[in-house]
Amino acid sequence: MSVITLENYALGEWRKGAGAPAELPSAVTGEIVARGGSGGLDFKAMADYARDVGGKNLRALTFHERAAIVKALAQAVMEKKEELYQLNFHTGATRKDGWIDIEGGAGVFFSMASKAKRELPNDHVLVDGPVEQISREGTFLAQHIFTPLQGLALHINAFNFPVWGMMEKLCVSLIAGVPAIVKPATATSYLAHAAFRVMADTKLFPAGAAQLVIGSTGDLFDHLGGQDVVSFTGSAATAAKLKSHPAIIRESVRFISEQDSLNACVLAPDADAESPEFALFVKEVAREMTVKAGQKCTAIRRALVPEPMMDIAANAIAEALRKTTIGDPANETVRMGALVSLSQREDVRAKVGELKAETKVVFGDGPFEEVIGADAVKGAFVSPMLLRCDNPWRAKAVHEVEAFGPVSTLMPYKSLDDAVALLNRGGGSLVMSIFTFDPEIAREIVLGAGSFHGRVVIVNRDCAKESTGHGSPLPVLVHGGPGRAGGGEEMGGVRGVRHYMQRTAIQGSPETLRAVTGQWVKGASIENRAPHPFRYRFSDLEIGKTIETQARTISMEDIEHFARFTGDTFYAHMDEAAAKANPFFPGRVAHGYLILSFAAGLFVDPAPGPVLANYGLDELRFLTPVSAGDEIKVRLTAKSKKKRNEEYGEVKWDVLVTNQNDEAVASYDLLTMNAL
Ligand code: NAP
Repeated sequence: MSVITLENYALGEWRKGAGAPAELPSAVTGEIVARGGSGGLDFKAMADYARDVGGKNLRALTFHERAAIVKALAQAVMEKKEELYQLNFHTGATRKDGWIDIEGGAGVFFSMASKAKRELPNDHVLVDGPVEQISREGTFLAQHIFTPLQGLALHINAFNFPVWGMMEKLCVSLIAGVPAIVKPATATSYLAHAAFRVMADTKLFPAGAAQLVIGSTGDLFDHLGGQDVVSFTGSAATAAKLKSHPAIIRESVRFISEQDSLNACVLAPDADAESPEFALFVKEVAREMTVKAGQKCTAIRRALVPEPMMDIAANAIAEALRKTTIGDPANETVRMGALVSLSQREDVRAKVGELKAETKVVFGDGPFEEVIGADAVKGAFVSPMLLRCDNPWRAKAVHEVEAFGPVSTLMPYKSLDDAVALLNRGGGSLVMSIFTFDPEIAREIVLGAGSFHGRVVIVNRDCAKESTGHGSPLPVLVHGGPGRAGGGEEMGGVRGVRHYMQRTAIQGSPETLRAVTGQWVKGASIENRAPHPFRYRFSDLEIGKTIETQARTISMEDIEHFARFTGDTFYAHMDEAAAKANPFFPGRVAHGYLILSFAAGLFVDPAPGPVLANYGLDELRFLTPVSAGDEIKVRLTAKSKKKRNEEYGEVKWDVLVTNQNDEAVASYDLLTMNAL
């Protein structure tokens, strides 16, 4: 095949690096696949271009408009996925491994785009939490909001998932409104480059929104400032070096770090050799060791079992590993391809050497039985290797050294406390998994070890079939872990978007807060002239549009009728003495649901119109009991709007039900779907 020339995407165009390029070999054949570098790039100009052009362009769009771009980019990647799969084989990855990377990467874009549409406003400001009442009269309120940082996001990625790693970072910064400079790991940059080119070719990136660097980032770190974010994935050693760059420290640059970690799994004491949980544990350990040839930041490095189970578990995992076919990842009979490079193989061998000083080899020390369809010398092939460490408290390396390949260590624990202490001995990891059918044991382990791990997967016979597995980060769940794992957090749905935004507490009058946030706030002005708010289409409805209803008297007959009709004859509505004995009620009171129903009867405008459906209630509180003879009335105010699609949008209404003394009886947010 012809060697691919990798270009940088800088200042709005593709540019070949000057000087001698890096030559990137195939993990399988050793032949040169691509060459490229970033020599001659003006990194200061790239940073300025990102901030001055990209940032401005992105911030001019709403969250929904940015999400629409993200979705269209994912579609483009899916259309070109077969081209990417061909390059994926050169990284040593099988098609299954590539699926995680390529379609998994597009999946993150799809998932985040749809979350953004549902959970973020079609606006430029993201409101965070409720209004805080910080004054007695309510004339001075506070509201937390998020706005996009006005800097750039520097995404530095690891070699193992060149597409997924790029996309999981890129989608959140794009949705947040922050331009990115993407720097893939050089070893597999040809695959990241191809995926980036597919996206750039769509011309959907607003100018300056995304740039790509092949190879070194030159002096870019010197030009970082306080509105920038570095999001790094890679080894702890590189993270430590980059985090301590003077500009990062001086400018308080946000640094999200996703590092290697010694992820663990534990077979709980309730699971004996005959239990489904034991079989699931064995399968998962073997799978995690061999997927992507163990080059997964989330892979299981330490597998803990009760002491009496050591031999049984060792034999069962070895048996499962024996089925691993190794060779050319493009060959469909091959389960495990190669490591990314010969130098990575050297690294893994060196790390295994350190681990061997504390362990015995259970499986994988012998020569290869067969390398299918490839040359074992030219390709970076290794056997999966299971080690056992019978005294994990006397060992150090097994808890600290990550051999970034198909390598795991089995170790015993004596009690549940011992298991928890060993889990935490990794010093913080991305994920741990627990195999138990006993929910109490699961709880005990989670309480003891949860804070050391970013994600906990609890597997039993009930959920195994649908379980997404130990090693799969999901776009809706946080990815990251404390301590050794870097102390960073990514993804987690909209949480991931917030990492690229600033949270600011805004204090001011209700009217000011309404203008800043685009949401109606109690105390802000209302507009309550005819026509009824339900007569307005979504696009014409103004925030603050209000209806104040007539009053309605509630009778004992109403309460009894409602009780009989619904079957809700709870004593507080039916038994005067019992109701009185209750600390909350003066005697028999109206049902909360009766109040809601009458409230709807008061504010609804019944004729067909733009309001299509009642979608539910949020934040419902019953505040003052309503007795027979009380009068209730309602104020309904349009509070916020969120466009859902080209047909309709969601309107949130602030509803306040009051009695004849103007006391609040009930308050809630009503959600309706309104035609556009
Ligand atoms: P690495 O050697 O630490 O490199 C990571 C990234 O940093 C690469 O893009 C690398 O670029 C870049 N880099 C290195 N020195 C730099 C510098 N001075 N300035 C700017 N960028 C620099 O890690 P790796 O070998 O690619 O990845 C394997 C490691 O990543 C494993 O330890 C694994 O556990 C970890 N990992 C963690 C996660 C996670 O989410 N926590 C995910 C995947 C992998 P070059 O390639 O050009 O050197």
